[in-house]
Amino acid sequence: MSPRNPQHVRLFIPGPVEVREEILDAQAGWMIGHRSSEFAALYGRMQPKLQQTFFTQHPVYLYTSSGTGVWESASRCAVRDEARVLHLVCGAFSERWAEVSQFNGKQADVIAVEWGQAVKPEQLADALRGQAYDAVACVMNETSTGVRNPIEGYAEVLRDYPDTLFLVDAVSIYAGAKVDVDNWGIDVCLTSTQKAFALPPGMAFAAVSPAVLERARQVPHRGYYFDMLEIDRHHQKNNTPATPPVSLMYAADRQLDDMLAEGLEARFARHERMATMTRTWARGAGFAPFSEEGYHSPTVSTLTNTRGIDIAALNAFLRGRGMAISNGYGKLKGKTMRIAHMGDTQPEHLEVLFAAMDEFLAKEG
Ligand SMILES: *Cc1c(COP(=O)(O)O)cnc(C)c1O
Repeated sequence: MSPRNPQHVRLFIPGPVEVREEILDAQAGWMIGHRSSEFAALYGRMQPKLQQTFFTQHPVYLYTSSGTGVWESASRCAVRDEARVLHLVCGAFSERWAEVSQFNGKQADVIAVEWGQAVKPEQLADALRGQAYDAVACVMNETSTGVRNPIEGYAEVLRDYPDTLFLVDAVSIYAGAKVDVDNWGIDVCLTSTQKAFALPPGMAFAAVSPAVLERARQVPHRGYYFDMLEIDRHHQKNNTPATPPVSLMYAADRQLDDMLAEGLEARFARHERMATMTRTWARGAGFAPFSEEGYHSPTVSTLTNTRGIDIAALNAFLRGRGMAISNGYGKLKGKTMRIAHMGDTQPEHLEVLFAAMDEFLAKEG
């Protein structure tokens, strides 16, 4: 019945990640109109589960876009044209969000550290002493470098700046580690479906505080598709301004149930265990974590190619075994490799991967 290709390649790449068959199947429900009561019921029953997984009482909006759309939405709505936004940059994704702010005409300042390093709370504190900002934007888990930034430290610093909104990209860590949105005073926290959520690509979510909507009212040109005030107006009615990806919502609804059934704490612990396993394997095989000590990501490991192996050849070998990892991102290509251990990946899957990688390395000499 299913046209699914039997040549399954299990993805250990950091997006899109491996999606379970149950989730693929959940998408196959009959279509419903998005102005129907069935749709409002679907939207409405996802809300408390989204709030629980985001650790927030704020509404969680649904975006028919990948994560980049929420960057654009947050940059446009949370920053007034005459004000400034501060971006904390430590890799490819945090760098790109700063560009999104600039492309939308916002005045963006940047604190940039070398790739592989985390941005420290003291650096943020220093910058805020010299300049007022409408918002600080950061990436909690920098997927290019495998760095988990100390955002609870940023939260501490930002307590002294109530007019500065705190925008956090949690795309590759949501539901893989605790992102304590309300306790950390996060005003926008976003994720998209194809990373730690372990769904097919095409949809994103953002927990948004009332302070952001207040700010948005002071921004005359917020665009159309990603205007948070318009999204909120429809959210009140368990609806979206334009046509949402209903099939993906079926999958998300199912995945939220499964995540809560596993238990969030158990899920976080599983991710920590897989990250430790990966670093232990790497050190044993003669590789080193690229990320700064003390700031290793629980969901993706970027490993320095200390042995100078041919990563493309490794991946070709793995593909023959039905698996794929990722080469380094952008300027790190060839210099690092990335192994994602997020979503529904289990320790046993990693054991199979590491056995195959050991086999390749033994053959290489
Ligand atoms: C993948 C990713 C994004 C968004 O990319 P999309 O392709 O737009 O979903 C944003 N931030 C991080 C940290 C990511 O890993």
